Amino acid sequence: MRGLYVGRFQPFHKGHERVVDDIMDDVDEVVVAVGSAQKSHTLRNPFTAGERVSMITKALEDRDETVYAIPVEDLNRNAVWTTHVRSMCPPFETVYSNNPLIVRLFEEDDVEVRECVLFERDRFSGRVIRERMRDGGDWRALVPDEVEKVVDEVDGVRRLRDLDADDY
Ligand code: NAD
Repeated sequence: MRGLYVGRFQPFHKGHERVVDDIMDDVDEVVVAVGSAQKSHTLRNPFTAGERVSMITKALEDRDETVYAIPVEDLNRNAVWTTHVRSMCPPFETVYSNNPLIVRLFEEDDVEVRECVLFERDRFSGRVIRERMRDGGDWRALVPDEVEKVVDEVDGVRRLRDLDADDY
């Protein structure tokens, strides 16, 4: 059995990692859909789909179960988004999400949706991590070591600060 976990993962953090470990207790393989794949180089979505795939693949490579990290672009048509996700991913039976829109869209499609337990959401949060990167705070403790390496490899902190300095 395969489970689907959808997110933007900007960046993939220790809260996401805990959710994937929980999902692994439930299913044999995990499909991680990297949403908003077309977005990068903005304050809310600084990392490219490829960079996020790399973060997820490396952070989870020591797990026993197979994890597929699949980029999925947004669609300006919510009513057919679940079909779009299916067209990009290996077959899955269960969806794991706390995102109300995602829950609704898959439930309308008669797919079983399970809630994920939130782990210290006030700390393990993409927004908090991006703000700490921008403002010089300690973001490194909030992400897996492998994610820290990918962010450093692509000079991600400087990218965020340059975006912040831009006036668009
Ligand atoms: P996210 O990376 O912010 O979060 C991913 C998941 O992780 C969420 O379920 C969130 O609740 C959970 N999470 C976050 N922190 C956690 C923590 N500390 N502990 C446990 N769980 C935690 O991603 P998101 O913004 O929810 O991503 C949804 C994606 O789906 C977006 O890319 C969105 O564009 C896409 N989407 C697209 C369409 C469309 O194109 N029409 C429709 C629906 C959704």
